Amino acid sequence: MWQPTLREADGRPALCDDDFVTWTEPANTATALLLLGRGSDPASERGVDCPGDLPAPSDPDLVARATAAKAALGDRVFVLGHHYQRDEVIQFADVTGDSFKLAQQAAARPDAEFIVFCGVHFMAESADILTTPAQRVILPDLAAGCSMADMAVLGQVQTAWEHFEDLGIAGDIVPVTYMNSSADIKGFVGRNKGVVCTSSNAKRALTWSFEQGSKVFFLPDQHLGRNTAVLEMGFDLDDCVLYDPHKANGGLTDDQLRNARMILWRGHCSVHGRFTLDSVREVRERVPEVNVLVHPECRHDVVQAADYVGSTEYIIRALDAAPAGSAWAVGTELNLVRRLALAHPDKQIMFLDRTVCYCSTMNRIDLPHLVWALEELVAGRVPNQITVDEDTAHHARVALDQMLALP
Ligand code: SF4
Repeated sequence: MWQPTLREADGRPALCDDDFVTWTEPANTATALLLLGRGSDPASERGVDCPGDLPAPSDPDLVARATAAKAALGDRVFVLGHHYQRDEVIQFADVTGDSFKLAQQAAARPDAEFIVFCGVHFMAESADILTTPAQRVILPDLAAGCSMADMAVLGQVQTAWEHFEDLGIAGDIVPVTYMNSSADIKGFVGRNKGVVCTSSNAKRALTWSFEQGSKVFFLPDQHLGRNTAVLEMGFDLDDCVLYDPHKANGGLTDDQLRNARMILWRGHCSVHGRFTLDSVREVRERVPEVNVLVHPECRHDVVQAADYVGSTEYIIRALDAAPAGSAWAVGTELNLVRRLALAHPDKQIMFLDRTVCYCSTMNRIDLPHLVWALEELVAGRVPNQITVDEDTAHHARVALDQMLALP
């Protein structure tokens, strides 16, 4: 039986048919293609290492080429597709899921020589950490990073930790990092007896951490840390402080750091951070008994105003279990919301915001890059391999193993 995680609204008035806003597939216009990242000139892409020819997006044979290359590789290749990926890529995924599920799936396929990860950089790093040394993890476009993961750089985090040591509070602090962080940060957390968490198990990770110490240093997503501590664990907002790595001592006084229970890193997801309280108010006015369902990477006021809050997998389960005719405004990445709306035509599933909200870095993995990566493998070349050095991987694995051992 599906259960809401944080709060559930009730007593809403009945829906009128006029209030329903159903998903409309964007027209195949130049603007729509640009919004989907399809109108770019391959020669102008920055930070991309694509030796050889990157197929043109307009190549009518892309699907046939990907199908043929995948068939030629057979069981030697395993293609992972994150939920936020485009349909054109998802159709070639052997498995879809969130970042941790995909890394686990890669680890469960030790016979696959090549793991082609249709996701972003930190996810491919996690797959490399969890797979065998013989397996090679490939990211079809090296420019597919994650703005949130990039907001916590190891040098900045070490500077913060040294400040905590100078204050004499480091021994009381357990570092916790969200899965959406670089291997360097996971390694830092493992070295300092902390734990990795996902949006599904953040409460369990924090509960365990507060049994080990009196404070938590939460990286890199301030919103997941704050939402979990305040809305799921009963902390006050005043128990949380925000550490800004671009300010001296994080922009905090020594007393603020000494008194804080949650030291939140100033990072956020640029996709989920776009939803605002106005988005929630606007949809409630438009569709009076709409259910607002959001990801915990959304801002605190948005999560407070929502009816249901949960991870990507939770959102998928919630919409699967929702009754026919019910209306849902969903605050997460648009590719996923769009796919869920198309999969459930009996339910009114709409995007929480009126503006387009794709994860632009995730969208860099398009069909031309997937075709290019697969054809390179067929040709005996390994493109865009993601590797994590052994020392970092060892300590990151410690933090990941601690997550798997959470009670
Ligand atoms: S949706 Fe947000 S957290 Fe996820 S990859 Fe994109 S920027 Fe990173």
